[in-house]
Amino acid sequence: MISLKIFTFNAYSENTYVLYDETKECVIIDPGMYEGYEQNELVSFIKEENLKPVLLLNTHCHLDHVFGNKFVFDTYGLKPKFHKGELAVLEAVPGYAPSMGFTKYEVSPLPDEFLPETGTITFGNSTLDLIFAPGHSPAHLCFYSKADDLLIGGDVLFYGSIGRTDLPGGSHQQLLQNISEKLFVLPDETKVYPGHGPATTIGFEKQHNPFF
Ligand SMILES: [Zn+2]
Repeated sequence: MISLKIFTFNAYSENTYVLYDETKECVIIDPGMYEGYEQNELVSFIKEENLKPVLLLNTHCHLDHVFGNKFVFDTYGLKPKFHKGELAVLEAVPGYAPSMGFTKYEVSPLPDEFLPETGTITFGNSTLDLIFAPGHSPAHLCFYSKADDLLIGGDVLFYGSIGRTDLPGGSHQQLLQNISEKLFVLPDETKVYPGHGPATTIGFEKQHNPFF
């Protein structure tokens, strides 16, 4: 059974998730820690819960989702895993972060291996399915636990909204299609934990999301 801890970090109010189960192994998804106190918050939680970080995942590589990659690598020895199509997005970050005021950005390490479009990731006794849902970014992945009815959705589907599509590699049409064909086919009770804002469910968004 997966337990989940939500942190909201950095100037973009980005949600960083730690998923763990009874084995105490944990996965860090989209570490957005930028300030030292945010880094401390993550480390304190992992220590208090006695967790063992075994994976660092990025749904996609916009700066607010990768601010903490270097810190997680330095602290836990984990390199990020994401889809190869996000590599150019990550590699662009050092070029634009300072001009947006993020002069302390520490360059993320690169993956030893990339994630495929479909397949599974395991940690502890738990399994996450990969769902490839570009549109907000060119190779965005969502992480789905069927057993626990939860989706770590990144910036694809938000409570009452969807991800922006005006950034490089974005496509409004593609985003809508991926949400319809790959997310709205999940069970209604699936809890969606997005990259920004509150959690929602597939059923609620199918009924109320103004983009559909
Ligand atoms: Zn994004």
